Amino acid sequence: MMHQRTQAIRAAARKLLAQGRVDVVIGYTQGTIPLRAQPYLAYTPEECDRLIWSSFCGGNLATFASGRTDRVAVVAQGCVSRNLNGLIHEKRLRRENLYVIGVPCLGMLDQRKVETKTAGRIVATLENDPEEDMGEITVSGCDAAGECFTERLKRRDVKRDNCYTCMHRNPVIADEMVAEPVTETAGGDINAVAAPWERFDAERRWAEFTKTFEDCIRCYACRDICPLCYCTTCFTDESDPQWCGKTQDPADVQTFHILRAFHCAGRCTDCGACETACPQGIRMRRLTSKLEKDVRTLWGHDPGMDSEAEPPLATYRPDDPQEHFK
Ligand code: SF4
Ligand code: SF4
Ligand code: SF4
Repeated sequence: MMHQRTQAIRAAARKLLAQGRVDVVIGYTQGTIPLRAQPYLAYTPEECDRLIWSSFCGGNLATFASGRTDRVAVVAQGCVSRNLNGLIHEKRLRRENLYVIGVPCLGMLDQRKVETKTAGRIVATLENDPEEDMGEITVSGCDAAGECFTERLKRRDVKRDNCYTCMHRNPVIADEMVAEPVTETAGGDINAVAAPWERFDAERRWAEFTKTFEDCIRCYACRDICPLCYCTTCFTDESDPQWCGKTQDPADVQTFHILRAFHCAGRCTDCGACETACPQGIRMRRLTSKLEKDVRTLWGHDPGMDSEAEPPLATYRPDDPQEHFK
């Protein structure tokens, strides 16, 4: 059964391409493995038949619109629309070249949580209605011995962490919407779960930080999926001067993640794409969610809500909280 959002996205995309209003529609298609959706660029009305909406649309499509000069339509839920706004503000996109197909979002599921809940057995199919928020899903597949299984899981138990606490599920800019708006609270308290280590003393915090990043293999998938990381030459690739070594030595890994997180401060929408992309299951939102919380609570700034708003770390105000700014 094709879900309503998928039908509406395909219809909107077909119409835009057939009428010549855009050159390309950037959306999602089914991934090559179960529990994955992947970015897909449709250039013709016929190609729109491959567009989908599912609970695994976890990549951030703003990344694929960034820097383009042709007329693009982007399928955008709340977080992606905010990143589009950020890119407009940073002059990586022109609003007049952008058409937003807005998708009210009920949150994405976490492939790893599904795998954990099914005890590592291979899940071949997941019946899942992305129109439904906290319902149940059916997973089925086989284990290593060839024994097949079918199980029911509660959707909230396998939701992506950031989607569980998301506060902006409806698109903040949209040229058309494919469904009625959803309620804005996802269920979890963002302030309670953001920055899980801020209550620890310095020693424990460092130990937690070291452990969080110890398996990073420096593949840069987190950087490459993030719409904020568009520098032509990333600081990690600079050789003169070399800001950061390229090895997997803990000091190099930690430097990469700390610097990248600070580059995202005041711009990160907590979209979760970096964690979804990571092949190692690294929880890099443990850094970015702390920065998101600080920016929100210190300056009242939610990145990407308004394409005109200056990010706090790019501006100065006489009442800035830190003395050394004055
Ligand atoms: S962060 Fe919010 S808008 Fe983005 S996918 Fe999750 S629930 Fe949807
Ligand atoms: S740092 Fe991660 S959560 Fe933040 S905008 Fe980039 S991909 Fe999204
Ligand atoms: S995607 Fe994961 S493994 Fe790759 S660089 Fe980022 S944190 Fe490290």
